[in-house]
Amino acid sequence: MAYTIATDNCTGCSACEPECPNAAISETPDGLFQIDPDLCTECLGFFDEAQCAAVCPIEETCIKDPEWVETGQELLDKKRRIHGE
Ligand code: SF4
Ligand code: SF4
Repeated sequence: MAYTIATDNCTGCSACEPECPNAAISETPDGLFQIDPDLCTECLGFFDEAQCAAVCPIEETCIKDPEWVETGQELLDKKRRIHGE
């Protein structure tokens, strides 16, 4: 399941962006941040917890996207595709 950013809560502080091992987080034209679900692996294979959610100072802002249901294997396959491993 990919993470998403609740833009109603995001302050645009940018703390999450450099923490993503997949460069899935980018700034939007209005100065907030977004996650590309094709690149988000829930940090699987790199960290035990989602780094964006861990560093975000606002609760319930980096959250799992129920629209993107994926198994652990699918997330690991995505990681391999991104990193060429
Ligand atoms: S959960 Fe991990 S891989 Fe997904 S956007 Fe957040 S930091 Fe990036
Ligand atoms: S760390 Fe949280 S508040 Fe800051 S830009 Fe990322 S999602 Fe928005």
